[in-house]
Amino acid sequence: MDPLALAAVGALGVAALVLAVGLQRRGSSRATPASAPPAPDLERALGRAAAAEERAAAASRDVDGLIDLAGIGVVRIAGDLTVVSANEPAARLLARRASGLPGRSVMEAFTDHRLEEIVRTALRTGTAGGELAMRTAEAPTLLVRARRTTDGGAWLVLEDVSELRRLQRIRTEFIDNIAHELRTPLTTVSLLAETLALEADQLPRRTAERIAKIEVETGHLVQMVNELLDLSQIESGGAALVLHDVDLAHLANATVERLSLFAERQGVRLVVEAGGPVPLVRGDGERLGQALLNLLHNAVKFSPAGAEVVVRVVAGEHEAIVTVVDHGPGIPRAALPRVFERFYKGDRARTRGVGGTGLGLSIARHVVEAHGGRIWVDSEEGSGSTFGFAVPLAGPDLGATPGA
Ligand code: ADP
Repeated sequence: MDPLALAAVGALGVAALVLAVGLQRRGSSRATPASAPPAPDLERALGRAAAAEERAAAASRDVDGLIDLAGIGVVRIAGDLTVVSANEPAARLLARRASGLPGRSVMEAFTDHRLEEIVRTALRTGTAGGELAMRTAEAPTLLVRARRTTDGGAWLVLEDVSELRRLQRIRTEFIDNIAHELRTPLTTVSLLAETLALEADQLPRRTAERIAKIEVETGHLVQMVNELLDLSQIESGGAALVLHDVDLAHLANATVERLSLFAERQGVRLVVEAGGPVPLVRGDGERLGQALLNLLHNAVKFSPAGAEVVVRVVAGEHEAIVTVVDHGPGIPRAALPRVFERFYKGDRARTRGVGGTGLGLSIARHVVEAHGGRIWVDSEEGSGSTFGFAVPLAGPDLGATPGA
């Protein structure tokens, strides 16, 4: 409770006490005429209590007004799943009338079992939430968060994120269209450069060198375009997971094999360690391989010549865990929360000469989260990095709403 409300309650308590004492006095001394003016102390206490009550009510109205202005829906729910109160935005977002909501059960009020489930989970575990696609024109996409209160009820907060999701869709489609348009001409240029490079020994040295450079740079561009397409496909949900039983230790060996030539060129040794038997996970082997490849590619790319990169696969209680440990430059603390963002690239001065699109880790995060898993990084500048991900042994819950 805010200090003002506390003060008001305190003042009201004092006033009630004074009033009770006054009434008692009045009752016990019948000689005092009923019309006698209240004692000045009592009058002052009552005045202060009334003023405090008015201030608390005004502050509460102010906060309600602010919440309404922000368009955030707020619903107070009792422990027996009945609605105690709902503000105007909540009623509007759920296409209901606010006055008709208090007293009804959550299911009666909102006729949506997903909302009821979120409230039930919050009452059981403390917090719950999700993003719901609604059938109403008011707010087609609602972000819902619920939190248990100390009196055993819950707050339910509703936010309309339809416009945000619409803009994200437009951005994804835009990137997707551009990448598609770029892919064909770039692939042609890349193939032509490759063909020319095959004839390098018949060309003057300077020309051959320039062709080799064109080949490398177009290779980067083709990789960037392919990663953009991968990301937009994953983000738009167009890349449905094809589930199989996946042996992560086998996947680690296969991925290391794929990168062996690159590692050799960088002078980096790749090692796979499997800590005991690791149960199969239910997942999309190709996508998980792509996530691991991206982590491993970075580890090799950022390692100094002569260093070792270790891929470890171990079984946790409910999940299989894969870590990639390198002895590269590490990541500054300030950059750590950003490395999984799309297009994030580290400080150019540190990574000069190391190519990259800034998409690899973002793709890995999407793949792992689509499996109901988690991905993380531990790193200290100057001491190398450990990237890891864990996927549940039971497999992804494909009914779950993907994270934002
Ligand atoms: P990029 O194509 O730039 O490698 P990523 O999404 O794969 O894009 O990585 C984002 C950034 O995270 C990189 O630019 C780099 O700054 C940092 N990073 C990723 N992996 C490592 C690593 N193993 N060691 C040091 N920095 C790393």
